[in-house]
Amino acid sequence: MLKSTSASTATDHYLSVDNVSIQFDQAEILANISFDLQRGDIGVLLGPSGCGKTTLLRSIAGFESISAGAIRLGGNTLSTAKKMQPAEQRHIGMVFQDYALFPHLNVLDNISFGLFRLPKGQAKKRAEELVSQIGLSGKEQVMPHELSGGEQQRVALARALAPEPQLLLLDEPFSNLDVDLRESLSREVREIIKQSNTTALMVTHDQHEAFAIADLIGVIHARKLEQWGSAYSIYHQPNNAFVADFVGQGVFLDGDILADGKVATTLGSFERDPENVRQHQVSPGDKVKVLLRPDDIIHDDNSSLTARVTTRYFRGAEFLYTLQLANGEELLALVPSHHDHAINELIGIRLEIDHVVVF
Ligand code: ADP
Ligand code: MG
Repeated sequence: MLKSTSASTATDHYLSVDNVSIQFDQAEILANISFDLQRGDIGVLLGPSGCGKTTLLRSIAGFESISAGAIRLGGNTLSTAKKMQPAEQRHIGMVFQDYALFPHLNVLDNISFGLFRLPKGQAKKRAEELVSQIGLSGKEQVMPHELSGGEQQRVALARALAPEPQLLLLDEPFSNLDVDLRESLSREVREIIKQSNTTALMVTHDQHEAFAIADLIGVIHARKLEQWGSAYSIYHQPNNAFVADFVGQGVFLDGDILADGKVATTLGSFERDPENVRQHQVSPGDKVKVLLRPDDIIHDDNSSLTARVTTRYFRGAEFLYTLQLANGEELLALVPSHHDHAINELIGIRLEIDHVVVF
């Protein structure tokens, strides 16, 4: 289920990262980062390694100071450039890349570790509930080293959720796991977080994880939050060429803006996406780059429009073909894998596009 930030108002911002900048020594690592989460939302910040994701999470957790702006949670100001609420007063849970379980404690004791304020019986009951929520019933007494990586990470999640934190932060929680596991575990983790009605913010460099878990996604690049929105808008209505390129696959065709506002390409002319029209003002005659995703291009043996296969990647259910048009421009096409075409073969294509995005 995707929600749009545009519907939210000032009153329902639960976590608010408001114009936050972070410096180390004199160097600015992050500049003017702003986004909000409503209660129960799962947000994901996506960006290349070294872009400042961990630094931003640490500032929300209270381990890093900010040089400008404000971080607020549930109506309280956590951090400004002048004042910082101590981490231990923030009631924020964290899950890290390395599972960080206590190796000498079993599953149940790891999960109940943070529940020292509760009477023993209640702590045990709560921990048992969580063991069942993460699908590890029967493994209460098992030690961490006897669990798979995915199971360990679910225990780390349960341990972070046990004290019912006001906010859960997850820092690349799946990056030590097999690629095959990451997407399915992301979905499970989403379900567990949603069941507990916890507000969460995860950072990752992996877009598949982001799509699997997020209500809202932000893309960080070169110190800035380039875009914040639903997975759909990040993929189909990217704000700029970096977001378009970083999230999903695609190519850019040359385009010319026509008198009626449509954009002409070698494959015909197209209406622009309304959001793109709002964000990027162009005039007739302007030269633009037109984003085409692999799923915009349909292979059709009966089409008179053809393109030459230059590379092909077998992906099981489908081939990803790189196709060259007569004028030399390239396209990507996702084609069901029983359409097995050789390099250099000319194949028929047609376009299935409602609106295009141009830069
Ligand atoms: P990411 O998590 O996106 O990979 P980080 O937040 O870990 O990125 O790091 C962002 C940048 O800040 C990097 O260039 C890193 O070298 C730098 N950095 C991180 N921590 C510190 C620190 N304590 N002092 C100085 N520079 C740091
Ligand atoms: Mg990091």
